[in-house]
Order: sequence, then structure tokens, then C-alpha cells
Amino acid sequence: MNTVYDMEEGMHYVCQRCGNCCRWPGEVPVSEEEIAQIAAYLGISEQEMIDQYTELRRNRAGLTLISRPNHECIFLEGNECRIHPVKPEQCKNFPNGWNFPGWRNVCEAIPVPKDSLKEVTEVKSQQNSEK
Ligand code: SF4
Ligand code: SF4
Repeated sequence: MNTVYDMEEGMHYVCQRCGNCCRWPGEVPVSEEEIAQIAAYLGISEQEMIDQYTELRRNRAGLTLISRPNHECIFLEGNECRIHPVKPEQCKNFPNGWNFPGWRNVCEAIPVPKDSLKEVTEVKSQQNSEK
């Protein structure tokens, strides 16, 4: 189970795309499936994706996205993720699925009550079914 710190009960944190978590030192593990998805999105082969954008994890148990010398992810462009639609699970799940002590000092996500998000989702799906 993933660990979460400093989260308000009943809140979902909505990402503001500040890019700060992509500059945080640390690994971004990628699975074989994620490598295939990213390669397809970039229009390159899986081997090219592995060669150009990944390196061995410190524990040697798989691959991680390469970090630039300043620690930011190789796919960060300004504050935007170059592979946003197919970014790895670890990126998708931060900060609600996992985070680290002190994450609130770097993350600009806004807490929104989970109930209100559910209502918005229900209204949107109702509107779509009426189209
Ligand atoms: S893949 Fe995208 S979202 Fe994930 S760390 Fe890199 S730039 Fe950030
Ligand atoms: S640090 Fe928080 S608000 Fe900024 S991009 Fe990452 S998840 Fe989104």
C-alpha cells in the first residue's frame, strides 16, 4: 500500500500543473507496458525509447526515466509534460495516491471535497448522454 502524508480527510487534490513534482529528485519507474505506450506516443521504437529516455534504477530492478543534471525529468518542457497523455502511473497518482513528507511545500495542487468532484462528474456524464 502506498503511503500518503498531510492530506485533509475527504479531499481530492487537483493538480495545477506547476511541474514542481517533475523537478523533485527521485526515480520515475516505468513498466514494459508504459515503455510501449510512451514509444507509440512519441512515434519511436521501444528500443529507442529505452535507449534515449531511460536508465537502470538504483536497485537495478527495472528502468526509470532519466533525470537531467538539475534533477528534473527528461520529459519536462517548461512546466509541461511532453508525454502527458501517457505519463507513468507514478506521475498520475501523485499526490492523491502517494506522496512524501513535506510534499505540500512543493506541490500547488488545490484540495477539493471529493463529494463535489463526484457531483461534477455525474453532471458531465448526464450532459454527455443527452447529446
Ligand atoms: S513523465 Fe511527465 S509527469 Fe512524469 S515526471 Fe516526467 S515530466 Fe513529470
Ligand atoms: S507538484 Fe502538484 S500541482 Fe504541481 S504538477 Fe505536481 S501534482 Fe501538479
